[in-house]
Amino acid sequence: MSGNNEGIIVVLSSPSGAGKTTLVKEISRKNNYQISISHTTRKPRSIEKDGKDYYFVSDSEFKNLIDEDRFLEYAKVFQHYYGSSKDAVFKKLESGQNVIFDIDWQGTEQIKKQKLNYRILTIFILPPSRDELYKRLLNRDRNDEKIVKERMAQFNEDVLHWKDYDFTVINDDLENCYKKIIKFIESKNNENDPDYQKLISLHVNSLLN
Ligand code: ADP
Ligand code: 5GP
Repeated sequence: MSGNNEGIIVVLSSPSGAGKTTLVKEISRKNNYQISISHTTRKPRSIEKDGKDYYFVSDSEFKNLIDEDRFLEYAKVFQHYYGSSKDAVFKKLESGQNVIFDIDWQGTEQIKKQKLNYRILTIFILPPSRDELYKRLLNRDRNDEKIVKERMAQFNEDVLHWKDYDFTVINDDLENCYKKIIKFIESKNNENDPDYQKLISLHVNSLLN
């Protein structure tokens, strides 16, 4: 457990396109949560800014950071490297700020395994349907069918990790989803409610084809 003057860690993960980046930004904008800005070797999307959405680095820069042990966690996702740098995260936590992560299930596992001295809440986001997910990806990735297909192809494997998270929520209406997440963070409601778990499990089955 963290002391009273230390922040907590909140992690959001999901299959690509379900909405976690949007939700992380909304949570940070309206609450005392600082976003952990990751490093990545992927190329920026047209609306992304270096140092704001990610630190965009080359393969060799990323490898140097690995060698220097600068990452709290890192993983290869969709052919690119992504990682969260230790320095920024711990500085924030030690000064009492809460830190929110938008990372995949591999990174979440790595953070959990380290048994850090901070409270960690992990949240998994689901899309309302495969069709809606496809539309969101297509819209975000500027109709780049190749990227969308690559991300959809990973869906069935990624979605199964919902069981390893403290709380899972369906991102249908954004505002509604945001409210459920805040309620969970503040009170940890629903965490072990078997009816809720069953509902989520049925929803995941409906997403798998
Ligand atoms: P992820 O980070 O999980 O890959 P994003 O946050 O980038 O997903 O969201 C993918 C796309 O879907 C973005 O264009 C975003 O604006 C949109 N989006 C997110 N949540 C919703 C929602 N509840 N309803 C409609 N569109 C959404
Ligand atoms: P995108 O390319 O859509 O921004 O992100 C692709 C995937 O990489 C998403 O699942 C996102 O959560 C994950 N990701 C982003 N940053 C990190 C990180 O620092 N570490 C890990 N493990 N995954 C990350």
